[in-house]
Amino acid sequence: MAVVKKRPEPTPIVDLISDIESTRAVLERAGLSGVPMDVNRAAAALGLKIQYEQMADEMSGYLERRGDTWYVGVNSLHSGVRQRFTVAHEIAHFVLHRGQQENFRDLIFTRRSMERNSMEREADTFAAQLLMPKESLVGDVRGGMTNVNELAARYQVSGLAMKYRLMNIGYKVA
Ligand SMILES: [Zn+2]
Repeated sequence: MAVVKKRPEPTPIVDLISDIESTRAVLERAGLSGVPMDVNRAAAALGLKIQYEQMADEMSGYLERRGDTWYVGVNSLHSGVRQRFTVAHEIAHFVLHRGQQENFRDLIFTRRSMERNSMEREADTFAAQLLMPKESLVGDVRGGMTNVNELAARYQVSGLAMKYRLMNIGYKVA
């Protein structure tokens, strides 16, 4: 009697994603490398489902596992640039922390608080890296684009997010 051996299941590409570099590699293969980053397509490329919902003002969004699917919730009442940062932040929780928790709730207060835990700091750093890639930003500044608001508009982030990113990269921002 013939024995049909089951071939081992290939590892889903998402299982290999664990940091900003591997995330970027996957997104590049999906045609997502330019700026501004299309965060909705990026989330979809990672298998995440996005839901835009009206939430209380202090709530930015969430990442939550339901069955085999991870959902990103975004406060649709917030400005466009804040919604983009929220999606990037929730993508970060998925990439970095999905093995540790299955439900992340993001409040503005916890983000701004000095007592934010390391997961929140990591997620914000990842989000900034995703939305404002260093190489791209350095290229723009060298090319003469030195106005923070102009750069913020190009990357579709808030002026404050751009300012912090530039300072983290090592630029002095007046
Ligand atoms: Zn968070």
